[in-house]
Amino acid sequence: MMKPGYHEEKGKMNPRGTLLFFWDYDTQWGAERSRGPGGAKGWGSLEFPNTDELLDLHAEYAIPACFAVVGAAALPGSRPYQDPAQIRRIHAAGHEVASHSFRHDWLPGLFGESLMETLRASRDALEQCTGAPVKTFVPPYNQPFDYPAGLSFSMSERREARGGRTDLRRLCDALGTTGYRFCRVAYRPLPQRLMEFVKTKRRDRPSRLETIGPVTCVRLNSPGGFARPSAEIIERCAAEGGIAVVYGHPHSIHTGNAQDVSLLVPLMKLIRDFRERGTVRTALPRELLGEG
Ligand SMILES: [Zn+2]
Repeated sequence: MMKPGYHEEKGKMNPRGTLLFFWDYDTQWGAERSRGPGGAKGWGSLEFPNTDELLDLHAEYAIPACFAVVGAAALPGSRPYQDPAQIRRIHAAGHEVASHSFRHDWLPGLFGESLMETLRASRDALEQCTGAPVKTFVPPYNQPFDYPAGLSFSMSERREARGGRTDLRRLCDALGTTGYRFCRVAYRPLPQRLMEFVKTKRRDRPSRLETIGPVTCVRLNSPGGFARPSAEIIERCAAEGGIAVVYGHPHSIHTGNAQDVSLLVPLMKLIRDFRERGTVRTALPRELLGEG
């Protein structure tokens, strides 16, 4: 049976590559937990008007996206922390609503019951908001990176997370226990990091689905945003197959950085062109479950 996202029409090739498009929807919960320089930020209120704009763009180019939403944003309440009505609009537009933890928590430092609690509370809040099951998880800050089985070691996580510590394998086990089935991951194996250090640039390759514990995972292979490296990985997947994983933050689309809408629109045109040529299909994480 063909999966949604495949379009077998006469004269068109089967798509070689797959694109997964993510938006990390942080709201003020994420802004006030910023781990960047200067600590807490105030950009949370930008998430909402920008998301409305993005919903229009995704509709125009018919590109489905997975919005990774902090669960607390789905509780009854108001901006800049909450907007359950907007989360329902995201779902109603056919996009996938994934969990981004409950309050944009730094997961390497959570363990035991507090880890379970953020995973469970987020899923419950999102499911009650949209009425649909939540299967996908996107870890805030893309962490944990530490995953010895994948030859990925994070010294800073080991240093900062005192007491107990959650590495990627433990997170995936906890995700399985709390009902999730898919996770976007961002670990980078040591040989790849060494090569990147030598070449002084990221060296991304088309991703494949991989299994970590009870969860299906896909590894991020773009640096965030819509500049040249994101276009390159999509082009490569169109030529060779595999999965391209791109992501951005709604609150960042008018900041003039790599996530700016002036770069997003050309990337959406590129995706549409590849899809029309039949070399790339656009998909949602939940549609890939069972394909691995
Ligand atoms: Zn985030």
